Amino acid sequence: MENQYDVIVIGAGVVGNAIARELSKTCVSIAVIEKELDVSMGTSSRNSGVIHSGIHYKPGTLRATLNVLGNSLMADLCQDLKVKIDYIGKLTVAQDEEEVKSLYMLKDQGETNGVPGLAILDPDAMGKIQPNVGGIKALHSPSTGIICPYSFTIALAENAHANGCRFYLGHEVTSIQKKDGRFEIEAGGKKLTSRILINSAGLYSAEICRMLGINEYTIYPCRGEYLILDKRLKGALNLLVYPAPHVGKAGLGIHLTNTVSGNILIGPSNEYRQDPEDYACTADIMARLRKEGHILLPELKTTDFIRSFSGLRPKQTPPEIGGFKDFVIESREDVKGFINLVGIESPGLTSSPAIALMIRDMVEKLLPLTPKTDFNGRRSGMAGHFHELSDEEKADLVAQNPDYGEVVCRCEQITKKEVLDAIENPLGVRTINSIKYRSRAMMGRCQGGFCLPRIVQILEKEFGYRPEDYLLKNRTSPLFFGKMRQDIK
Ligand SMILES: Cc1cc2nc3c(=O)[nH]c(=O)nc-3n(C[C@H](O)[C@H](O)[C@H](O)COP(=O)(O)OP(=O)(O)OC[C@H]3O[C@@H](n4cnc5c(N)ncnc54)[C@H](O)[C@@H]3O)c2cc1C
Repeated sequence: MENQYDVIVIGAGVVGNAIARELSKTCVSIAVIEKELDVSMGTSSRNSGVIHSGIHYKPGTLRATLNVLGNSLMADLCQDLKVKIDYIGKLTVAQDEEEVKSLYMLKDQGETNGVPGLAILDPDAMGKIQPNVGGIKALHSPSTGIICPYSFTIALAENAHANGCRFYLGHEVTSIQKKDGRFEIEAGGKKLTSRILINSAGLYSAEICRMLGINEYTIYPCRGEYLILDKRLKGALNLLVYPAPHVGKAGLGIHLTNTVSGNILIGPSNEYRQDPEDYACTADIMARLRKEGHILLPELKTTDFIRSFSGLRPKQTPPEIGGFKDFVIESREDVKGFINLVGIESPGLTSSPAIALMIRDMVEKLLPLTPKTDFNGRRSGMAGHFHELSDEEKADLVAQNPDYGEVVCRCEQITKKEVLDAIENPLGVRTINSIKYRSRAMMGRCQGGFCLPRIVQILEKEFGYRPEDYLLKNRTSPLFFGKMRQDIK
């Protein structure tokens, strides 16, 4: 029946979507409810995009186990979903003897967790992997990788959708009742019901718990700000370079991170905030990131900073304690059918496929799961971008569809066909940011200065958009809000 499901997932971040896709391999009916107009609008699009190896987490914790398993599942999953992943490796660098001790501790810990290929390197060996790294020793973890976090999250959602999962985007869950063995959920003016309810609401997970009378959790948002560098510096780093960790710090320290698109990130900082939507980038932190960026990458020029962004860690530890707590992933005995995920901070992106398997096991204990015989885990469409193809492949595609022959975004070399595909995405999302995250148009050096007007024109001419239809990311961010001058006759 309409609005009645076996399983409802609250939150369309990387974790909620990985769970939805995993469950879409079975015959249960599933819906994902998301308050924003698109998937991946929270922490899942606002992070470093690193597929961690698993050296940082205490053996036996969920973070350690799920990180290592998640890392090992990523290669096949990304191939099926046509998402680019690069296992480029990482050096964790020690500057003094005290930090060298922490490298040996990380190596032991990583090996206990099952991380493959760990080695302590001296400066000569470090230099062969990455020239000009300072430091007296480094831990090399070859299984560390990079991924585009929003492409991965969107791909999981699209594949879950293709396999029958329903998405309620722009529907904020505002109340939950349990009646006669079913959850009754109010979201965006709709009433939905389910036998099983999965809380994957990230920064709002404690709030969802409170709707069911579970008051034992608090989330402390902790902001990490980043600067994005121009692709001019692509190739400056062969792999990730992190500082050795210090006990009690909330993150892994400011570092340079390669991205699969060729930009380098500087960040993230660490600052506790009250508001779980406070994504501001502040002058102080930006100045600090610029300064540290120049130290870490001496060839950096002021003109290389093209944009800033920030993400919020859903921490369970308050500022006065700092550090980390393990993920909470539980099937509640007191509220039968409620599967609860709280405090899924880093390495949540890496762990997401493994978390999905764990949740599938929990669901199976509550509801018989029959595998779906026609599940198709392979996503359709092109892997990567048109500009990455060979000349021959490009010519073939242009012959099939001339829209491949028209470049809309000059900085990122994105064609009109790729923009049209992004506009006509399977989830039916039509914000400017949804086009940007799916096509990469507007993500280059000019940040949409050239291509945004062209995309506005395509939406008007080919999709009948009126000025009020253009939203940047949500209903409170209109692109146009009045006329600058009267029409000239
Ligand atoms: C600065 C930073 C760097 C990081 N770097 C890495 C990294 O390199 N590698 C790694 O593995 N991990 C990293 N992480 C962690 C990773 O990003 C998170 O663990 C992961 O994205 C969490 O995904 P999620 O789906 O649980 O949460 P989210 O992405 O936050 O998704 C939760 C969703 O729930 C929705 N929601 C909330 N309340 C409601 C409601 N009432 N009704 C409907 N919908 C609701 C939200 O809108 C949101 O879309 C980093 C995190 C940060 C902040």
